[in-house]
Amino acid sequence: VASIPARLAESRPSISFEFFPPRDDEAEAQLWTAVRHLERLHPAFVSVTYGAGGTTQDRTVRVTGRIADETTLTPLAHLTCVGASVRQLRHVVGAYAASGVRNILALRGDPPGDVRGAWTPHPEGLDHADHLVELIRGLGDFTVGVAAFPDVHPASPDLDHDVDVLVRKADAGASFAITQMVFDADSYLRLRDRVAARRDLPITPGLMPVTNLRQIHRMSELMGTPLPPAVVARLEAVKDDPAAVRAVGVEIATEIGRRMLDEGAPGIHFITMNRSTATLEVHDHLALGP
Ligand code: FAD
Repeated sequence: VASIPARLAESRPSISFEFFPPRDDEAEAQLWTAVRHLERLHPAFVSVTYGAGGTTQDRTVRVTGRIADETTLTPLAHLTCVGASVRQLRHVVGAYAASGVRNILALRGDPPGDVRGAWTPHPEGLDHADHLVELIRGLGDFTVGVAAFPDVHPASPDLDHDVDVLVRKADAGASFAITQMVFDADSYLRLRDRVAARRDLPITPGLMPVTNLRQIHRMSELMGTPLPPAVVARLEAVKDDPAAVRAVGVEIATEIGRRMLDEGAPGIHFITMNRSTATLEVHDHLALGP
């Protein structure tokens, strides 16, 4: 199985897709429909998120294992330090390995319920993602990725600090990074260039087409930062017409994606919300086809 950095280098620009673990049978069916539709695009990898407070850990392990077993896709399993001792983290990494998953996105995670809340590590756990990178690399032959924040992490003093943190993660053994969803291509390019001057760490931008207005609020809550006013204004201008909101959301994601690719981004990581249609539209507009 090729490592994710090798797959990123092989297919520039690469595409990849992010899913979340389903809550029930209906959501599970929807996930697998999206996986099968998107599999045809030959992504470099597909990732599966890990729930807040570690709540979905069993489902993340099961879904990534099924992807490894039953599809042609390379899974990337997310893992966070929230509420877990080092012993428990080792156990989850072991479960990933046992189900054929060798690529892990090492994250700190957030305090349950609040991305800006004060972070308290588990008493026998890890304080920061760079320590998780080190732990996983020490447990075997794993390829480890990390998170990056073009709009500056909500708890960081400034971009300089975030750049130092990414350098530290690279030195701990991370070999690629994926960003928080990007709504401002310039922020992505700034972070990418600052890190590239110091380490060889490919940073793939996350992209998510807005398909309804409720998501604006939900996304800024998840990101801990508001969306750029120009983006919000374009969506609100058509707020009474759901089809137009969706079309504008796809148009905005296409514009941001095109700019980042024109400027040399290694690929696009699509946040799919377990649906394929809007992602496929942006993918087609960007002419990323296999
Ligand atoms: P860290 O790198 O530990 O950073 C957290 C904060 O601490 C930052 O402010 C950083 O600047 C600071 N910091 C880092 N290292 C040090 C250090 N050594 N000394 C001092 N300060 C330091 N959350 C989930 O719960 N599940 C998921 O599946 C998930 N997937 C994600 C995927 C992507 C691509 C991204 C971008 C985020 C994801 N998140 C997920 C959210 C993420 O867990 C939070 O944003 C979290 O607040 C930061 O995680 P991190 O790994 O960057 O943490």
